[in-house]
Amino acid sequence: MAPPSGPATLTPGHVPAAVADAVRDPARVSTRAIDRVAYAADASHFLLTPRAVLTAADQDEVAAILRAASASGAVVTFRSGGTSLSGQASTSGILIDTRRHFRGIEVLDGGARVRVQPGATVRQVNARLVRHGYRLGPDPASEAACTIGGVVANNSSGMACGTDENTYRTLESMVFVLPSGTVVDTADPDADHHLRTREPDLFDGLLRLQRRVAANPDSVATIERQFRMKNTMGYGINAFLDYTSPADLLAHLIIGSEGTLAFVSSVTYRTVPLKRAVTTALAVFRNLDDATRALPALVDTGAATLEVMDSTSIRVGQGFAEAPPQIRGFVPTDEAALLIEYHATAAEELAGLATQGARVLAEMPLRTVAEFSTDAQARALAWKLRKGLYATVAGARARGTTALLEDVVVPVPRLADTCNGLQELFLRHGYD
Ligand SMILES: Cc1cc2nc3c(=O)[nH]c(=O)nc-3n(C[C@H](O)[C@H](O)[C@H](O)COP(=O)(O)OP(=O)(O)OC[C@H]3O[C@@H](n4cnc5c(N)ncnc54)[C@H](O)[C@@H]3O)c2cc1C
Repeated sequence: MAPPSGPATLTPGHVPAAVADAVRDPARVSTRAIDRVAYAADASHFLLTPRAVLTAADQDEVAAILRAASASGAVVTFRSGGTSLSGQASTSGILIDTRRHFRGIEVLDGGARVRVQPGATVRQVNARLVRHGYRLGPDPASEAACTIGGVVANNSSGMACGTDENTYRTLESMVFVLPSGTVVDTADPDADHHLRTREPDLFDGLLRLQRRVAANPDSVATIERQFRMKNTMGYGINAFLDYTSPADLLAHLIIGSEGTLAFVSSVTYRTVPLKRAVTTALAVFRNLDDATRALPALVDTGAATLEVMDSTSIRVGQGFAEAPPQIRGFVPTDEAALLIEYHATAAEELAGLATQGARVLAEMPLRTVAEFSTDAQARALAWKLRKGLYATVAGARARGTTALLEDVVVPVPRLADTCNGLQELFLRHGYD
């Protein structure tokens, strides 16, 4: 990644003529400082000022831009909702806004499927699905602002999506545009033939890699182990084991590729039935170790959400105007909290799940008894604590410091040791 360039060191804006010409309306090509600075930050701590901001109007225009950029060696990056936390949506090259003109949503089969353009937000899609009793599988907490393009390109998930309901698992088909401008629609029965004809090197390369992976038992075992977990680091190379059709394989490599392989022009998802019966508990443990060691048993009960919060989180949460009662009335030292939630289609099923969860919790060393609640207000308080944490911690940080956020994934039985190890590292190196 190029070094950060702030407004103080703003270089002159520039777009190669062929790239600018690929945009039909010159008003949608901007090298003005005000536009470039406005797009310099996403939700991460990186600041990269683009050389220019292009606003693409449709798939053909993106194809023309990519073709021209490839020919001239220009670096382009897609920007959609701009809520990425690791700098994926920022660049010191050319930024292409692919949100504004890509908002289409088409509900199919009474909501069982939905075809979406990449600029629609998750919330907008779910608002169209709710009346049919369905929702999208991926459920990032940023759903109000993040878009399908970003969800696909980051393989975003959320508090309840797990590894079964992410884009990789719920994608039915995808239309994508390659750097050469070639458009592939995986719903087309001739997609593989089209890919082989238009992109023979890519087609052969995919098959060669697939054979190499499949022929190596160590590679197969590593991929199976790594992708059993919620692993979104790097390319989704599990696609080499899961798909035989090169077009489908490529579509699944594009998921999680952070915009580096292709432009996602349209996606058809298999949706997930809405489970409207929900019950939530906020359990406070004596320490983080106890809380994380409770997780495997709770995972086995089929919990939809298990969110761990450490003593610092509890301390921050106690300062909220409406802190949940479970975390009030004590000075946190080592305590940790677990937000546990079950989802069901019917009240009876929900009661059964809550009974199982309560049984597990009854055997755990809790600070006080934890109770499941279907009460909307009690649930909202618990969720407000969880969802408000990052913004509050980041907002309250000392001047000149940075809030760092990275996802890590470890097998559930190793979580307790990982958390303890991380705490030790933070202490040793002076991180709050
Ligand atoms: C408060 C907050 C909470 C969050 N919670 C979660 C969470 O629970 N789970 C989670 O996974 N993430 C979460 N995120 C991170 C982020 O919101 C998600 O990854 C989100 O899906 C990014 O979508 P976006 O539209 O903002 O994409 P952007 O940030 O604009 O782009 C993301 C990446 O996708 C590429 N891209 C965008 N559109 C396309 C396209 N059409 N074709 C190809 N590539 C494209 C971009 O180049 C970039 O690499 C959170 C972020 C914030 C700020």
